[in-house]
Amino acid sequence: RGSFYIVATPIGNLDDISARALKVLENSDFIAAEDTRHSKKLLNHFGIETRLFSVHDHNERDKVDYIKSLLDDGKNIALVSDAGTPLISDPGYHVVNGLRDDGYNVVPVPGPSALITALCASGLPTDQFSFLGFLPAKSKARKDIVSNWVNVPGTVVFYESTHRIIDSVKDINEVHGNQVTLSLARELTKTFETFLHGTPATILDMFAEDSNQTRGEFVVMASLKKDDVDEEEAKANEMLDLLLPEVS
Ligand code: SAM
Repeated sequence: RGSFYIVATPIGNLDDISARALKVLENSDFIAAEDTRHSKKLLNHFGIETRLFSVHDHNERDKVDYIKSLLDDGKNIALVSDAGTPLISDPGYHVVNGLRDDGYNVVPVPGPSALITALCASGLPTDQFSFLGFLPAKSKARKDIVSNWVNVPGTVVFYESTHRIIDSVKDINEVHGNQVTLSLARELTKTFETFLHGTPATILDMFAEDSNQTRGEFVVMASLKKDDVDEEEAKANEMLDLLLPEVS
């Protein structure tokens, strides 16, 4: 049986492709791509001529058996998405799930992902975080999720497009006001890479001042001030400190 490689590709700067990713793409028998035309440009840039076929949200389930038959024939396949790490808010889950269930060899080839790239430079806590993918398009559903962040541990991270960035920040402002610090990572690894940092109101002011700041692709990160929770926790710890010597 051949192997199924999950290959991360750049999220902007082509120099971020790894040496191993290039080798695997070159040496695979097929590349399964979210959008073959899009990936063809990347492959042309690196002079890679491996054959492509498409695996996207709408045909993924139908492609599982085809992929298994190629692997059974001893072919190696590399999965790529339009940008970043496949399966992270991108196609591939149904394929990998099906392959794992049947004991196929699935090999991750790590590289860029907007999520980790944004978080590590955000200045917000990185020891614990929750990734929410894309939030719902409708404001009511979005606000419900945003309200629930009080129950979510660590920094909240989600993906956002230029079309909804203002509405999302407005909703966060309505729900949490200055109880939340936001970091918005825009156009990561590209010419106009920018981090906006502050309360939602501060960020809305920045948008109003310069509408260019609403352009491009975003990773939004939010850190809630959980003063009340922290106080309660401190009290509980104090109690424990008092009680523990008695127990032991
Ligand atoms: N699989 C990708 C990854 O590993 O990051 C994510 C794919 S998802 C369909 C696309 C979203 O990722 C964009 O809408 C944006 O929120 C985020 N994203 C991708 N590239 C980005 C970049 N260069 N700067 C900021 N956000 C980016």
